[in-house]
Parts: sequence; structure tokens; C-alpha cells
Amino acid sequence: MDVSRRGWLGLAGAAASTQASAITIRQIAVDSTGFAPAPGIAHLKYNENPLGPPASAMEAMAALARSNWYYADDAEARLAAMIGKRLGVPAAQVVLGHGSSEVITSAALAWGKRGTILLPALQFDEPLLYPMAQGLSYRLVAMAPDLGIDLAALARAAAAPDVAMVYLCNPNNPTGMMLKPAELVAFAKALPPRVTLLVDEAYMELADDPAASTMLPLVQGGANIIVTRTFSKLFGMAGLRIGYAVALPANAAELKRHRLTISLNAPGLAAAIAAWDDAPFQQQSRTQIMAARRVLQAAVTKAGTTALPSQTNFLFVKVANADRFAAAMAQRGILVRGAWGPAWPLWSRVSTGRMIDVERYAAALPALVQA
Ligand code: PLP
Repeated sequence: MDVSRRGWLGLAGAAASTQASAITIRQIAVDSTGFAPAPGIAHLKYNENPLGPPASAMEAMAALARSNWYYADDAEARLAAMIGKRLGVPAAQVVLGHGSSEVITSAALAWGKRGTILLPALQFDEPLLYPMAQGLSYRLVAMAPDLGIDLAALARAAAAPDVAMVYLCNPNNPTGMMLKPAELVAFAKALPPRVTLLVDEAYMELADDPAASTMLPLVQGGANIIVTRTFSKLFGMAGLRIGYAVALPANAAELKRHRLTISLNAPGLAAAIAAWDDAPFQQQSRTQIMAARRVLQAAVTKAGTTALPSQTNFLFVKVANADRFAAAMAQRGILVRGAWGPAWPLWSRVSTGRMIDVERYAAALPALVQA
């Protein structure tokens, strides 16, 4: 199969950077639904993309709303085929979900029947909450001193005979940090064959070098790895709930068996099909996220503190007390994350929201960093 390096980028086509003038971002209208953050609120809390979906996706959803409301099986097949084509795997190896959360939850339900799931202690773990409520056996592995994922510790823990899966996010949330690709590849190759590796690449399209960092080529090469991706970040579609996994045929079939029935929604699929090939939008989205991240990074430096090296749409910022800091920011109408847990009281996560909101955060940071 002919897979170009660009294919792995998740950015469609060679013309992405040269067509940046072909604006495909729609103007955000005044919110008449009440779903958006209230006026005056800087919503920098959940790593969404303030651009929303491209105009092409808006048009696709409007056309759908005018024309049909059937179950979306054909649309699901079409999107899986499009993703498979770009990523160099057959459509049967692409498993769509109600957000990538659904496929991660499905993986935990399926592999949880076989044994224990290992995950780094400081990581986005929401997709495991439902499996945990069903009695999932899981084990947290301590972070490295720099708050990176400790692959050596994970490898040691994975040697235990009850381990069925290692689940990690790369880049990680909430740290934003990326593992060194060669180290992750070596880790993956050294895992016992009974252990499946799930790499959540929700933010991979925002990485410095996605092509060099993704584990997709290993899946294509037959490795026992599940890679998950989402339309919620680069594509601006968090509320539309479309994500996917790429996995070996047997693993893909196992994921499908553990998905909810008929969980995919037609508007989300219509938008994803349109956005997938909208290269200019993807380029603009990435550019705007990077611009907002630079403003945040400069503000952190100016405020005399530090943030972990991020390859995502958020920063993990060191403050005197993350809960007090988040409360003080909230008093100014700026919503960021407090402490991720008792073990990390000094770190607050901030997302790259609208530039006007990011600038408010930047202006407030120096006075509050010691709050
Ligand atoms: N994975 C990671 C690392 C995330 O940070 C998030 C959401 O913030 C998700 C998955 C969930 O994404 P989705 O909207 O595709 O369910």
C-alpha cells in the first residue's frame, strides 16, 4: 500500500500550506442556543477548539438537516473508508466511535475481561470511568520525575502476568508532553505478546512532527497496538462526537463487539466526512492553535514561572497552588483547571481558546501565579 509521509500527518493533501488563503472557517454567530460559555467567560478549561468545524462541515450538516434523518450506517462506512485510505489501512481496521472516548471505553471493557489495564498516574482517564464502575481491574504507574510517562516503569509493570493492556496518551493530557518516538517504539516492541498497547493520539495532529511521532505505522506493520484519534481537537468538533481507532483486524473486531449499538450520529458523520478532506481548514486550525499557544508560553515566561513542553492545544503551568489559582482566575471570568489530583497541587492546565480569552489569561497571570 502506498502511504506517503504526509498521509500520517492527518493533514490532507500537499496544498495545505499554500492554500491557507482559501478561508474555510465560518464566522461564529452569536450563540442563540445557550450551549456556549456565557458572554464574558473565557472558557479555557476543556481543550476544545474555538474555531468549531469548517464551513464545509457546516454546509454538510445543513444539507443533512434539510434532506434526511435515517440511521447513519452508510455514512459510517464512508468515513471509515476515507480514513482508512488516507492512513493506509483497510476500512475494516478503522473503528468509529461516539468520540474517541467510546472506542477507548470499548477497549477497556474488552481487554478488562482478559486482565488488568496499566496506565500512567497522571493522564486523562475519563473513558475508563464507566469500565471502572463495572469493576475494571487497573493499575496506575508513577510518572518520571519530569512528569513524563515513565516507559521503563510501565515495562516493568507490564511483565506481571495479569496485565492485558497498557493505555497511554501521546502527547499526554494534562502534561502536553510527547514521548520520544524511538523510545515508544522500543517499548511497544518489547511488550509481552499478550499485552495490547493502546496509544491515545487525540492531540497528535498538533504535534511538532506528527508523521515521526505517531504509532500508526506500527499498526500497519502488524503490531498489537490500537491507536485512537478524534475529530474533537484539530477539527473543532468536540460537541459532534466523532472519533476512531485504527487497529489490527482482530482487535478492530473486538472493539466493535464492545461498542454501544448504533452510537454514531449523522450530523457528526456528515461534518467529519467534509472536514476530513478540508486541508486549508486543517492548516488554519493548526496555525491558530499554535499562535494561541505562543501567547500562553510568552505569558508564562513573563510571569516568571514555567510550563511543561507542550505539543498540544494546552499548557500545564506551574503556580503556587493550582486550586487557589483556578478559583482566582474564575473570579475574573477565566476558567482553567485546578489541581489534577492531590499529588499535583502546583500545576494548572490552560487551553488555547479564542485569542481574546487567551490574552485575558495572559494579562491576569502575573498577579495570580502566586495566589
Ligand atoms: N483523549 C484525550 C487525551 C483527551 O484529552 C480527550 C478529551 O479531552 C479525549 C480523548 C476525548 O476525546 P473525544 O472527544 O474524542 O471523546
